[in-house]
Amino acid sequence: MNGWSELIAAERLAELEPTVGRELLRHALEDRPRAESRRVFTNRTLRMGKIRQIGFDLDFTLALYDQNAMSQLAFELTLDRLVERHGYPREILRAEFRPPFCRRGLILDTEHGTVLKMDRHRYVGRAYHGRRPVEGRERSELYRQEPVKPSSSRFYRVDTLFELPEVNIFSEVIDLADHQSAPVSFDSYVRLFQDTRHAIDSIHADHTLKQRILADLPRYLPRDDELILALKRMSLRGKRLLLITNSEWYYTEALCSYLFDDALGGGSWRDIFDLVIVEAGKPGFFRKNQPFVELDAAGEEVGEVEQPDWGGVYRGGSRENLTRLLGGRGEQMLYVGDHIYGDVLSTKLTSTWRTALVVNELEDELETRADLSSQHRHLDVLRAELAEFGQRMDGLDDILALYRKLGNGDTADDESSQRTRTHLHELRTEHRAMRQLVRRLQDQISTAINPYWGSLFKQGSNKSLFGSQVENFACIYTSRVSNFAFYGSNHYFRVLLDSMMHEASI
Ligand SMILES: [Mg+2]
Repeated sequence: MNGWSELIAAERLAELEPTVGRELLRHALEDRPRAESRRVFTNRTLRMGKIRQIGFDLDFTLALYDQNAMSQLAFELTLDRLVERHGYPREILRAEFRPPFCRRGLILDTEHGTVLKMDRHRYVGRAYHGRRPVEGRERSELYRQEPVKPSSSRFYRVDTLFELPEVNIFSEVIDLADHQSAPVSFDSYVRLFQDTRHAIDSIHADHTLKQRILADLPRYLPRDDELILALKRMSLRGKRLLLITNSEWYYTEALCSYLFDDALGGGSWRDIFDLVIVEAGKPGFFRKNQPFVELDAAGEEVGEVEQPDWGGVYRGGSRENLTRLLGGRGEQMLYVGDHIYGDVLSTKLTSTWRTALVVNELEDELETRADLSSQHRHLDVLRAELAEFGQRMDGLDDILALYRKLGNGDTADDESSQRTRTHLHELRTEHRAMRQLVRRLQDQISTAINPYWGSLFKQGSNKSLFGSQVENFACIYTSRVSNFAFYGSNHYFRVLLDSMMHEASI
């Protein structure tokens, strides 16, 4: 018997036979593996015992699409739109779908036609123009002459998984044009970016993408049996669950029925959530003050209300108008989403709601890192040795400088100076070899995680811009919502490491 059916059976049994039911419940809830890739990680201490309500985003949060299938569909529909409505030549249909190249956290430079990745200090560590890596002097000239401002109009940040096909199209069309392997041209990189944006927006806005997904849900939306178990477990001690999605009612209803109704043994997904808000218009939902529109069971408008009620379905609304229903204490609400800006950063900037970020890429990355654990350990040792060598070489350089300054023709000084020089030469040779080894190991680890961009969370030895945002804005983060099935409903998520550099050295 799998997890959720055990739990549901346990709940039913609990009504008839409390002892057996409780035992089954304990078994269903506690005897579970907790692989590293399924853990919940804590940036800011969070006592689930203090949380009274948990809100969920839908797309890429509860509904964890098959990323490749979804991106390929959007990629193909968008290319078609560029040809049909924006006058691009049919040759762009030769663009190749390249999923590993497209990652969130990347930034498009719409003036120079590059895709780049930054660390948290805004240092551009990697860049590609089409498929060509931009390196050395070219990268320095583009991104080191003045500070790079990712929030300026020149740059576009890829924050959501829905946007990955844009990266693919932008770079592939530029590559086709650069190599003149097809008669592809466009007015400017900015224009190409804008046209791609419009085309992809249009397949969302006119529901083309959603209709195609709904027509073949098993292909685009793998079910996760542990998801219902996680939601049941989270709500076990009276916490209320809310669904707050930007998707429309018809789409939300279809997706949630598909995800949950069978798992509930003929029940309805509506019973899981105490409140459903569709077309919420996040991130505006967190900033604006606007009324809710109540919907009936068929999704038809009932009328406008300022305050929603438990058990209802609403459209639009705002966080502010939800506050009274939630009891006014923002820190008792946990919001779970996948969008670093629309779900997490906006929540943090406008409320005291606690935040959980779903980063599905974490699963593959942690599994790859586990496979390379010996290389990681070797790298740590080498880095410590390199630092020590550097310090010794610096000291010897200073000594040689002093001998040169003294320059008094003393034979003993000359001999010592010569010995120092020889020693320094030996150290430098060894230091060079160690640096090469470090570079090889770094490349090996980084390429195994992603051949173009390396880790999502790191750039070189620093945190990536995306990694630092996860750390700054998400109280907790995890690879999928079903991971909460492994934690008690009142679990205390503790920060294990929140040290300044000077503390780490003690
Ligand atoms: Mg989402």
